[in-house]
Amino acid sequence: MAKCSLCRRTACYVQRYSGLRLCGEHFLRHFERRVRRTVMSRGMLRRGLRVGVALSGGKDSTVLLHLLHGYAEKLELELVAVLVDEGITGYREVSRRRAHKVCSELGVELHVRSFRDTFGFTLDEAAHATRWKPCSVCSVLRRYLLNTAASELGCQRLATGHNLDDVAQSVLMNYLRGDVERLLRGSRGHGMVPRIKPLMEVPEKEVALYAMLSGLEVGFEECGYAGESFRSLVREVLLQLEEHTPGIRYGILRGWERLRGAVATEPRPLRACTKCGAPCSSEVCGACRMVEAVRRGLEGESP
Ligand code: SF4
Repeated sequence: MAKCSLCRRTACYVQRYSGLRLCGEHFLRHFERRVRRTVMSRGMLRRGLRVGVALSGGKDSTVLLHLLHGYAEKLELELVAVLVDEGITGYREVSRRRAHKVCSELGVELHVRSFRDTFGFTLDEAAHATRWKPCSVCSVLRRYLLNTAASELGCQRLATGHNLDDVAQSVLMNYLRGDVERLLRGSRGHGMVPRIKPLMEVPEKEVALYAMLSGLEVGFEECGYAGESFRSLVREVLLQLEEHTPGIRYGILRGWERLRGAVATEPRPLRACTKCGAPCSSEVCGACRMVEAVRRGLEGESP
């Protein structure tokens, strides 16, 4: 058995892209140091902020909440968790129970926003009525609910559990779709609660290992719709590329950041949606347009 690169203990993880072999204890320290460095070097947090944490009960957001909770006292952060219940049968109920449990253990307020209560339909119903890919409906309405909840709760940052794989997938998806505007701009905009992604420099596999070695109660179940998405295809391709060329996800992240730095774009000037008041770039926001289309579908009309 290979030894840890930093001590005499047996390694439990080989980090192919760096050549490091790490025992459990050194892996945990290494992981925490890397996330702390991401947060500090990118100026994600400062003393006294009220931070909304998008919590799903899955591994990424649970690890994120624990880490931010660890910084909370020193940085005098106020944490509130927000869970979006899309209404996905057999999936969200389980993770919702887990999210309640972790929040009550850490003493963090949990606010739940559901598609059913806000829009009058579940994601299952919307997907069935429109025949659209569930992820395309989910991503727009989920982002809307997270942003409006964070704004209503007075949050100055919205932290999400996106890891390195998620970020690299998004970059590649935007390239493949030729969506240069989104590629360069991301989701910045005046009037939106600024988003932070403290796990953006750690691979998904390492987040999972960190959760297991820390004894966190997390779920590894996947949304039943995940396999139908374009993202899932890109994910497979990226994993193959990483297997062939370790470190390629970091290459994608760094290249994207260099590109954004070279072609600096101003955050979009946003105005208020005439229907719901949320910040948007057109007269009616994407979420309101989507909700109207789903409602038409539910009434038997063409969405
Ligand atoms: Fe929503 Fe798609 Fe993610 Fe499921 S896989 S939670 S439908 S975005």
